[in-house]
Amino acid sequence: MARHHKTSGDAVDQNRRAMLAGTVKGACTVGLLGALLAIPARRRAEAVALRPPGAVAETDFLAACVRCGLCVKDCPYDTLRLSDLGDGPATGTPFFNARKVPCEMCETIPCVAACPTGALDKGLKDIKNAKMGVAVLVGQEACLNFLGLRCDVCYRVCPRIGEAITLELSHNVRTAKHAFFIPTVHSSKCTGCGKCERACVLDEAAIKVLPHVLATGQLGKHYRLGWEEKRSAGGSLVEPSPEVQVRGMEGVEMSPGGTYKLEKRPDGGFKEFKP
Ligand code: SF4
Ligand code: SF4
Ligand code: SF4
Repeated sequence: MARHHKTSGDAVDQNRRAMLAGTVKGACTVGLLGALLAIPARRRAEAVALRPPGAVAETDFLAACVRCGLCVKDCPYDTLRLSDLGDGPATGTPFFNARKVPCEMCETIPCVAACPTGALDKGLKDIKNAKMGVAVLVGQEACLNFLGLRCDVCYRVCPRIGEAITLELSHNVRTAKHAFFIPTVHSSKCTGCGKCERACVLDEAAIKVLPHVLATGQLGKHYRLGWEEKRSAGGSLVEPSPEVQVRGMEGVEMSPGGTYKLEKRPDGGFKEFKP
């Protein structure tokens, strides 16, 4: 029986196999590393993508959207576009960039009407109820109104002026004789159309529309706001608290609703003055 001797060809094959295995392993490692590094970037980009009006919750939207592009086609303002590879949102899904082209809030909402799958909810009948995102004044240091100069552009272009954005007056302590008019977004009224972000006069917009998940907080369900409970019940729900002795303020008479001025004594105690 002929014995099999390893030839130089075998050795070359073995080396080649080892090399290929190494290369594949290396490629897998690099690929995995690349994928791991890419995931947060993709998620970050997805997190700030603005979906068309009526878009259902993101996970359901991704499941329902068939990437047909009909909403994009029927948008008369070219607001929407389908995501390309590397744009951020899942490839082929519709989104818009508010700084480039905001939503014009069409009364008939043609994008929603065009959607064949329910990814854009046909229950959205009034565009004022759209929740594409929420505007947030993220760049206070640069906002001209925050600097005490009058700009108000974001306020004036808002389709829900005086509701989604108001200008809140406060004292300008720097000049002591002027006022600040602080643009203030009311999330319950903001549709996320992005017209404010588009119109901001700064090189980088100080006001930006973010998806709700990033722009808004959520109070724990166990919280009860005493003043609201009191208002709906027509009175306090709890007995007034018993008097509590505060350490260091022994002897000071504290009564509910009373006003007292206290001055610290050299011995560490407090001297009381009734106004
Ligand atoms: S409401 Fe109008 S402008 Fe806005 S995304 Fe839909 S079709 Fe485009
Ligand atoms: S995104 Fe801006 S412009 Fe649009 S409704 Fe909200 S605050 Fe107004
Ligand atoms: S447009 Fe920009 S700079 Fe002007 S008030 Fe609004 S956020 Fe500030």
